[in-house]
Amino acid sequence: MQSGVESIEREARDLARRIAKDRIASTAGERDRSGEFPRETIEALGESGLLGAVVGVDNGGAGLPRTGLAGLVTELGRACASTALVAVSHIIAEKAIETAATDFVRTKWLPKMVAGQTLGAFAVHESNSGSNSGAITTTARRDADGYIVTGSKMFITSAGEADVYLVLVRTDPQRGPQGMSALLIEKDVSGLSFGRPEDKMGLRSSSSREMFFDDCRVPAANLVGVEGEGGQVVGQNVIGWGFFGAAAISVGIAQAATDLAVTHAKERTIAGQPIGVHQAVQALIADMSLQSEAAEALLVMCADRADASPALAAINGFKAKLFASETAIEVADKAIQVMGGHGYCRDYTVERLFRDARGLTLHFKTSEWLRQDIAKAALGL
Ligand SMILES: Cc1cc2nc3c(=O)[nH]c(=O)nc-3n(C[C@H](O)[C@H](O)[C@H](O)COP(=O)(O)OP(=O)(O)OC[C@H]3O[C@@H](n4cnc5c(N)ncnc54)[C@H](O)[C@@H]3O)c2cc1C
Repeated sequence: MQSGVESIEREARDLARRIAKDRIASTAGERDRSGEFPRETIEALGESGLLGAVVGVDNGGAGLPRTGLAGLVTELGRACASTALVAVSHIIAEKAIETAATDFVRTKWLPKMVAGQTLGAFAVHESNSGSNSGAITTTARRDADGYIVTGSKMFITSAGEADVYLVLVRTDPQRGPQGMSALLIEKDVSGLSFGRPEDKMGLRSSSSREMFFDDCRVPAANLVGVEGEGGQVVGQNVIGWGFFGAAAISVGIAQAATDLAVTHAKERTIAGQPIGVHQAVQALIADMSLQSEAAEALLVMCADRADASPALAAINGFKAKLFASETAIEVADKAIQVMGGHGYCRDYTVERLFRDARGLTLHFKTSEWLRQDIAKAALGL
């Protein structure tokens, strides 16, 4: 028999599948071509309550665990990885506000974020810090009224579109990782500006831009968590929740690519025979099917472990994200192979899936960092 949480997870996933099919999938290709930000699809997710799925019931959400997040984001990733990425970035900001923000910030922003009326994002990466969040240099100086923020961020999903940003800053330049803090910064604050949207290979409608902070004044109440513990806020929310969302986007891409290749192998006939009768094509389909299922199974197992023991969320998120993101590239690549020249053309969805999948081994932590972190954990280093 299913527990109450499992049945809510199933309902949330079914709802996500319906919205993805009815309101997201049909416009994903056009958004990929135009680069248009998925505002309408995000609003649809907000109206449905899915943007508050992992926010606690006391704060207006459904209180789903990471396994629930994984299921619903997989459905979004199948339809449109850009929409799914924007949603995951929003959920990260929401979760950080819920668990660590002041009452003032939580009551001001969280209800509107749960309803999808206010969009959130997170900003950690900088051009000079690269993959190493401990090397950020964006600075927040404290004065009597709050913080004055100076610096920049790069490749920020939803930048310029989101209303609020969870921003990692350095509050004490002398203390390395212990000198970092998280601030909630509003889009309209004086001194904040945005670069042009990056002309990316894939995930094209997710909008990645630079953020420039030129003496931005941020109230002291916008500190998220404890000053000097911004690294923990990022660890618990960006890694502790976001990595499962990122892995789920990749699982969704792998499943969508497999489905498209199977359909094509049945429908495409050469000399009167469907290409699926050939053993070489069958081998590709078998591998794709297995790889997609293995990525989903690992994601569910890792999410389950993290839900049971949040202290293990990071290492499990690393494993799920590394395997799923590399699997999605391999599966989308095989789907193109099954579809021959058709799959290489923009009119066919697998071409977009391949480009979208490619970005997900770079986002959050790169595969190289993830391998190092997983190896260090295994070796006890
Ligand atoms: C589509 C997309 C969306 C993104 N959205 C966001 C967002 O919303 N918020 C945010 O904060 N950031 C975001 N990012 C930024 C992302 O986190 C960074 O791109 C990522 O951390 C890699 O940093 P980099 O691009 O500067 O690569 P670099 O750090 O320059 O790395 C280049 C290469 O060197 C390797 N490398 C670097 N250092 C080491 C090391 N010590 N050991 C081994 N290998 C190493 C890397 O693995 C990589 O292969 C996004 C990126 C992408 C592509």
